[in-house]
Amino acid sequence: MLFDRPEIKKLCEQDREVLAKGKIDWISKILPIAKEIIACDDRLSDDDFIYYSRPEIKTSEGIIKTPEGENEWGAKIIEFRKARKERFIQAKRKLEDLITLISDKDRNDALEALANKIKDWEHRDLSSEEKDRELKIEEDNLLLVKAQFIDRLDISDIEKSEILEKAKGLVHRYSLPDQYPWKDVALSILSSPEDVIFDFNDCPYCGEKQIKLHFHSPKSTWARNCGVAGEMVICPKCQRQTSLTETVRN
Ligand SMILES: [Zn+2]
Repeated sequence: MLFDRPEIKKLCEQDREVLAKGKIDWISKILPIAKEIIACDDRLSDDDFIYYSRPEIKTSEGIIKTPEGENEWGAKIIEFRKARKERFIQAKRKLEDLITLISDKDRNDALEALANKIKDWEHRDLSSEEKDRELKIEEDNLLLVKAQFIDRLDISDIEKSEILEKAKGLVHRYSLPDQYPWKDVALSILSSPEDVIFDFNDCPYCGEKQIKLHFHSPKSTWARNCGVAGEMVICPKCQRQTSLTETVRN
């Protein structure tokens, strides 16, 4: 079976471990940045070495440096150096930001408490009023699209004016997105703590403050070509994912 591939099992096992620990894995966030800083630093020293040993051309009169070649060569190295220096500065800035985040104990405790709470939440079905509300949103959105289309047509009949009248004042509204497992949401909070915003906005269902986070489905879903990532808003009171703006899917 495809899903039983050992590498997928291993990825699932790693996720289970992260959830069982329930701690933000700062090491895995620091390591790639530290590696980037070291790599940039090494490359900058290499560039210095290349720059100071510019190409020389052997002629019958001896070794000379060609002015054009030297200029071209020098300009390229300066360009590379500039780009690398920029990467170096950015990586150092990222590390500084990360250190600030790691030092914020209250926020980290709140994030870990949130992840540990929601990992056990059950998927909740909509109540009948909520189902009606979702249905109304879908109907309104459809009517809106219809009105926008018909408005562009060069016709004038009663049906057209009726549709336009009905759609008056309507704006596009988002209905509930697919609901993903809460364990995956908890994992996303632990792996991207920097993207979590508490008290983001008000829940359209109950009015309580919602939380925004960067949702990234587990690594095993990407290995199976069904990964999803994007900005997710959840309501901790309704225990519902109220919106998901997908940015990546494979
Ligand atoms: Zn709510």
